[in-house]
Amino acid sequence: MKIVVLKFGGTSVGTVDRVKKVANIIIGYVKKKYKVIVVSSAMSGVTNDLVKKSKKISNNFISSEYDALVSSGEQMSCALIAGRLNHLGHKSQSWMGWQVPILTEGNHSLSRISQIDKKKINKFLKSGGIPVIAGFQGINLNKRITTLGRGGSDATAIMCAKFFKAQKCVIYTDVEGVYTTDPKTLKKAKKIKIISYEEMLEMASLGAKVMQPTSIQDARLNRINIDVKSSFINKRGTLITKRKNIFNNKTITGLTSTKNDAKITLIGVKDKPGVAASVFKPLSRNYINIDMVVQTSSGNRKETDITFTVKSEDLLKTLKLVKQNKKIKFRDLIVNKNVSKVSIIGVGMITTPGVTYRMFQTLATKGINILVISTSEIKISVLIEKKFVKKAISALHKEFKLN
Ligand code: ASP
Ligand code: MG
Repeated sequence: MKIVVLKFGGTSVGTVDRVKKVANIIIGYVKKKYKVIVVSSAMSGVTNDLVKKSKKISNNFISSEYDALVSSGEQMSCALIAGRLNHLGHKSQSWMGWQVPILTEGNHSLSRISQIDKKKINKFLKSGGIPVIAGFQGINLNKRITTLGRGGSDATAIMCAKFFKAQKCVIYTDVEGVYTTDPKTLKKAKKIKIISYEEMLEMASLGAKVMQPTSIQDARLNRINIDVKSSFINKRGTLITKRKNIFNNKTITGLTSTKNDAKITLIGVKDKPGVAASVFKPLSRNYINIDMVVQTSSGNRKETDITFTVKSEDLLKTLKLVKQNKKIKFRDLIVNKNVSKVSIIGVGMITTPGVTYRMFQTLATKGINILVISTSEIKISVLIEKKFVKKAISALHKEFKLN
């Protein structure tokens, strides 16, 4: 069987009209002799609305019922798609996670798919049917409904592609694909034709919102090629695949910037072993992710300044923990919320010398001060003042010939 998994995101099924368009896209694949497995998200806004309702009921809404609640949007969209396909003369049926069943492990609201039972779906496919599977949901060992984290219907699609050995997995969304940088920040942003899992993972984790980061990891582990394209216009999108399939000589594939970072500096901390560990221990215990870190030693070698960044939503909690921390002493604490992390990403930098220098030089020429730096094998990030983001992105986009 030549199987394709087609996943539709919220805006792709956002209205009844959109659902009709989606049904036509699906039929297009049927005509090309594909066996189609459809995975759908909820109509746009619906999940957000359910989340809001749960918060009004309780600010500590029990997680098992949260999953039962927020997974309900997918039932509506899947039934609408299957209904439309039947209307057009195609045999189709909706499947909620528990009906497949899709088995998950891990905590409620952040579960991961461990197993998909193929029997019923395979039988339906063989009989010429089009299964429409609810994204984002599954069941746990107690047969309770679970969800896969926000944006989790991507994970459902990737795992369906894995278990049913699909030839293709197409993620239909409201943008034409993955861009060199956010087109809202830079008009000159270009659609990327092909990108590696690793680069995509960095871009998604750094704020490119096309796909759920953990699902990209699932795709990478299972070597599943993903096509990201628009359900609004029929144009070639972006292929996410393994590095070996990519032959281009670009040093940098994409640029990102963040909107939700905050910088904290502790001035005058004792310069002795164990101090940095004491600073970060309570934060890690409270599941606060530290992103960038620098430590600068002051002239007298008795004191140092420690600077680090956290997500803005963790800022208050972080400050509280730092101030309560009896193990550390510091003279002053400075917070800056008007910062942004600008990153350049590309597997090409592994083999190209001088990328770091070019990045720093470009920013220097524009008079942009670098506050903190962090790097990985395929990424260089710098923290800068938020007001310089557009300037920085535009200059770097040009420097690395992405225009
Ligand atoms: N409907 C879910 C959400 O909004 C899942 C998804 O969109 O992928 O998070
Ligand atoms: Mg979504």
